Amino acid sequence: MRVLIVEDEVRLASTLQDLLELNGYTADVSHDGEAGLDNALSGIYDVVLLDVMLPKLDGFTVLRRLRAAGNATPVLMLTARSELGDRVEGLDCGADYYLTKPFEPKELLACIRALTRRQPELRNTDTLEYGDLKLEKNSFTLFCGDHSLRLSRKEFDMMELLMLNRELVITKENLLLKIWGYESDAEDNNVEVYISFLRKKLEHLHSTVKIKTIRMVGYCLEKP
Ligand code: CA
Repeated sequence: MRVLIVEDEVRLASTLQDLLELNGYTADVSHDGEAGLDNALSGIYDVVLLDVMLPKLDGFTVLRRLRAAGNATPVLMLTARSELGDRVEGLDCGADYYLTKPFEPKELLACIRALTRRQPELRNTDTLEYGDLKLEKNSFTLFCGDHSLRLSRKEFDMMELLMLNRELVITKENLLLKIWGYESDAEDNNVEVYISFLRKKLEHLHSTVKIKTIRMVGYCLEKP
């Protein structure tokens, strides 16, 4: 799962990023409201952590514009100001939850879990199934009958996306954004490399599931 942190206090932002990454999330940081809005609008994030007092655009404006653009990504507002006025304003512009700084790491993680639980397709179930395959999230392991293989982090992320989308085609661009993030300089080529790793692993597991290439578009899973 990919989290966007919009926070201008550089040290806090990097502490949050470390905390999230330690807990299995991928986290990107924007240090001002404009960059944050741009990134959030990409639609690749599962949750946005949004500070209120930000340079260029404040958090409320970012949130209002995000919602006005039809983006429904869950937003958790972070604020140093605990006044009721701020809370009401934030909820009015479509914030999903509020956390007052300073907060406990545990509290933040619980909020993120609660927010992502509300989107059924992102529900943190322990295993995903498709055809004869089972993907176990805690152990990054792919099972097929009696065979199993541990996947690398990127292979796991990619397999998870493919299994969530099932027979729907997922574009190369989307895979690239969701897995490498859009500030990275990874290219289409990376996607192809990991798809070929996964195909080898499916073969090794004797799975009947195939990763089908849709020319010029992307990939989807296929079972007999
Ligand atoms: Ca701030």
